[in-house]
Amino acid sequence: MTFHEPAPELAAGPRPNAAGMGLPHLRALVAALGERSFRAAQLYHGLYRMRWTAWEQFTNLSRDLRARLEREVRLEWPGISESVPSEDGSTKHAFLLEDGAQVEGVHMPYGKRTTLCLSSQVGCAMGCTFCATGLMGIKRNLTPGEIAGQVVAMLNAHGHGPDEAVNLVFMGMGEPLHNLDNLMAAFALLTDPEGLGIAPRRITLSTSGLVTGIQRLAAFKPRPRLALSLNATTDAYRSSIMPVNRAWNLEALAEALKAFPLEHGERITLEYVLLKGVTDTLEDGERLAAFAARFPSKVNLIPFNPHEGSGFEPPGEERIVELCGILAGRGITVSVRRSRGQDVAGACGQLVRRASPDYEDI
Ligand code: SAH
Ligand code: SF4
Repeated sequence: MTFHEPAPELAAGPRPNAAGMGLPHLRALVAALGERSFRAAQLYHGLYRMRWTAWEQFTNLSRDLRARLEREVRLEWPGISESVPSEDGSTKHAFLLEDGAQVEGVHMPYGKRTTLCLSSQVGCAMGCTFCATGLMGIKRNLTPGEIAGQVVAMLNAHGHGPDEAVNLVFMGMGEPLHNLDNLMAAFALLTDPEGLGIAPRRITLSTSGLVTGIQRLAAFKPRPRLALSLNATTDAYRSSIMPVNRAWNLEALAEALKAFPLEHGERITLEYVLLKGVTDTLEDGERLAAFAARFPSKVNLIPFNPHEGSGFEPPGEERIVELCGILAGRGITVSVRRSRGQDVAGACGQLVRRASPDYEDI
């Protein structure tokens, strides 16, 4: 299945917002303005390839058309309301949305490669007990423009050129599979070579384990890579920290992941948050290795990022090394996510207006 934008409706308010519109929608917009249809491609180019943020930048259009757009069509990307740089080089950005809601994204440069962590919802409905975003509940889904707009805003703010390789991870605020339609509409703009031109394999969606969502995602081509937040190795404990496990337990998850069609060389990332004394036992290591061996995977261990009132603690260094040893000894590829942006609460699960993470290697 390829993503098709729903039939456009221009009646969305007196001044529609062009930011986030796909080509069909832009064509309808241009037609409604009485302009020739090739203008739609010019608008698309300016919005997504050039990442222009004001109509006056659209020098590919006539002065008259620019003036008309200025009057009749909004161009509102999410604006950066606050940027907090961390000592490790990453920057946590807060985005102010049109209704006053805020989400966060994190810009993480690693040498030549930059990773952007993105939010998919304002808050999250999943209620994982160790996650600061989970504690705030769900406010609403982000629109395609608000999802792609976080990328536009961060690339512009950090001066990235149009063809620089960036990785995107949907590991900020929200459960992306709860907002899959909008996420895939944004994905189309982000991956289109005529748009932002980011390769699909550089985009990773992380889910807490909504099996029906995983099955839906499997049908899209192209689609983002999949990461699953496993976080516990027994149903009893996983259900106690991740309510989603009561709907789809570990066996249901393993079956869904086994059935997920992978490309040559593609692997599913298993994220595993280490909570001291609860999910970081050596038995957990063995069970995690057994789960990971059931399909092509790699494991990313995430030492818990403390936040106020969570009641959990990060594991000791020695234990992290022991767990890596168990996994590697069973032939499982394992990496440890060293939290970036921790000094500014930009690390995984610490984003509360606040979104999330940091990635070393996923
Ligand atoms: N909702 C999606 C994506 C956002 S959360 C999901 O749960 O997968 C991104 C990652 O941060 C998840 O793997 C989650 O388990 C992890 N996480 C949440 N809170 C955390 C915390 N306090 N410390 C470390 N990782 C955390
Ligand atoms: Fe939501 Fe992910 Fe946090 Fe769970 S870990 S509450 S799914 S953002």
